[in-house]
Amino acid sequence: MGAMTPRAPVEQTIVVIEDDGHIADLVGLYLREAGFRVLQAPSGERGLELFEQHHPVLAIVDVGLPGIDGFEVVRRIRQRSATPVLFLTARDGEIDRVLGLELGADDYVTKPFSPRELVARVKAILRRGQPVANAASTTILIGEGITIDTARREARAADSAVALATKEFDLLAHFANNMGIALTRQQLLDAVWGLDFFGDDRTVDVHVRQLRKKLGDGLPLATVWGIGYRLG
Ligand code: CA
Repeated sequence: MGAMTPRAPVEQTIVVIEDDGHIADLVGLYLREAGFRVLQAPSGERGLELFEQHHPVLAIVDVGLPGIDGFEVVRRIRQRSATPVLFLTARDGEIDRVLGLELGADDYVTKPFSPRELVARVKAILRRGQPVANAASTTILIGEGITIDTARREARAADSAVALATKEFDLLAHFANNMGIALTRQQLLDAVWGLDFFGDDRTVDVHVRQLRKKLGDGLPLATVWGIGYRLG
């Protein structure tokens, strides 16, 4: 540790969600030494806020948290992003649950752990994630068990392909590229149907209704009153 540690040119943000301040500080210390920007949250609720605001490259999530627990935190993260997650677990029973729930955690570390080991795991996850995300996979997680693959033009829900009409797929892809942003019906018409399309707002509503029907309740496609729609 110390001033000689080489730092990454652009700091990558990691959110550490851990209610034990001693452990959180220790993890934060070592990750900062390794060149990461670290944001600490003492609760799942606060952690999810930080996650939304700062788009971290990875989240470290303690299983046992006050309020919503680590499992629920990861479930909510997974509803909107495929960002890698590393669990901190306290007991053997928690490990079983981490593995059994198939929440999509990328790794876990059992307390007590060596901070150096934790940093090594974090770096391994980030190394592993990059080429896969860039080359092999064009799949984006957009909802609970719902993915869209824009290269293959395929949407899947609960691991089954969902048959979508061309414009339904185009609309879903446009939403997926603008996760978390409220879009007006006019913006959607312009982007998906083109500027010279003479349909009206109901065209969008009909297609949204079809997407909701075909992809089910796991699709976080919200109606934003007075505006239009928002995915995520
Ligand atoms: Ca805890």
